[in-house]
Amino acid sequence: MFDNGNASAIDTHAESDSRSTLATRFAQVKSLLQKEFGETAFRSWIMPIEPVACAGGLLSLSVPTRFIRDWVKTHYADRIRGLWAQHYGPLSRVDIAIAAGSKQTAAPTEAKSEPFEKLATANENKGKTAEGDQLSSPLDARYTFDNFVTGAPNEFAYAAARKIAENERVTFNPLFLQGGVGLGKTHLMHSIAHAVRSATPARKVVYMSAEKFMYEFVHALRFHDTMAFKAKFRAVDVLMIDDIQFICGKPSTQEEFFHTFNALIDQGKQIIVSADQSPADFDGIEERLRSRLSMGLVAAMHPTTYELRLGILQSKCAQMKRDLPQDVLEFLAQKITSNVREIEGALNRLIAHAELVNRPVTVEAAMDLLADVLRANDRRLTIEDIQKKVAEHYGIRMADMHSPRRARPVARPRQMAMYLCKQLTTHSLPEIGRKFGGRDHTTIIHGVRKIEELIATDAAMRDDAEVLKRAISG
Ligand code: ADP
Ligand code: MG
Repeated sequence: MFDNGNASAIDTHAESDSRSTLATRFAQVKSLLQKEFGETAFRSWIMPIEPVACAGGLLSLSVPTRFIRDWVKTHYADRIRGLWAQHYGPLSRVDIAIAAGSKQTAAPTEAKSEPFEKLATANENKGKTAEGDQLSSPLDARYTFDNFVTGAPNEFAYAAARKIAENERVTFNPLFLQGGVGLGKTHLMHSIAHAVRSATPARKVVYMSAEKFMYEFVHALRFHDTMAFKAKFRAVDVLMIDDIQFICGKPSTQEEFFHTFNALIDQGKQIIVSADQSPADFDGIEERLRSRLSMGLVAAMHPTTYELRLGILQSKCAQMKRDLPQDVLEFLAQKITSNVREIEGALNRLIAHAELVNRPVTVEAAMDLLADVLRANDRRLTIEDIQKKVAEHYGIRMADMHSPRRARPVARPRQMAMYLCKQLTTHSLPEIGRKFGGRDHTTIIHGVRKIEELIATDAAMRDDAEVLKRAISG
């Protein structure tokens, strides 16, 4: 996929050639970032980045606004450098400038920054679902109440969601769905939207990720259109914002969210938000937003139980009109305990395999096919377990795992622990970061990469990693 050809030969081409090489290469990097960070992040932050030049180990990029520049700098610049270096040769720096002619003060008509405008049109075209619902992100048709399997861990959240979908009068506001990754928060929100849209089409329902909310806000700022932004949101009857942990620590969006939020609640409109933590546990959130968020109903979605997992597996099989032997389903329900998304992934793999070889899957075959997933789920290894083992191994204190100290004797073991957490658990990078003294996910990526590099080049490091892995999983 990548042109790994002779870079110096390319550099001697005519300028227009190297321009187009630069464009092609950067497009490749963008598409890798898209895979890595997902569609929403891609549309909001990565798509607007344009390559300007690459020379002498410096890659210059431009983006339309200061806000995007700061965000890209802290979240993606390192990764861009890494990907570029990996495929096109050494790169010592990535510079990000605000595109000339796209001053934040520019009126929309003079604004030259093409990517941004393309983005805006793309978004508009996408939201064609229903009249007046352009603001909403598309809904997944499979995420309905009917397809949602309930059990002890989620029945309260389910009941609250149904109640909101079925009552036009607001009972609790906001509804705060709180739960770990893959436990069904997005599924429930989409279910509410489907139900409200089909029962009362006149009610305007808007579902979007917190990231998109933030993007809309930035867009409005850029075009001096915050009035319209406010009006747009305030015309909504039911507003759902998914994964609001994303706006913590972003004061300007938080502020706007708070105002929109207050205005809607004052007008008796329904709000539903989701997050991986309860409002009380949020860091970097303003006190008044925290208390406003806790004011309604906080419905927790707890980790799944065996019964719930089995129920979900059976329901998914029925939905896909596929059969797997009962003992295989029981085996999966018992072994894959992390989250529903993983259970679905495992199930899909087994079904695909059965179709390919054209015979039913056995428990033995499942063990084989899912070896990687099973290992990760085998013992619910916690991040703390890993940190403890690594600290013991290197003779450092547990507190060093959280401390900001960067001296190598503690930094390397800490990076090793990050690496092992990534390898041996299913926790996300932000989750891992939180357990390492609130480090950013990019710091975790950096740590993991560092150890990968060392393992590839340094036999002692490779041995360390092996010994630790065995000690942790053995
Ligand atoms: P979250 O938003 O909490 O990370 P999702 O709503 O995206 O989780 O759920 C992950 C996947 O698991 C989705 O495909 C969803 O349909 C499925 N899922 C989660 N909980 C349930 C459930 N109780 N019944 C059926 N499917 C579920
Ligand atoms: Mg979700």
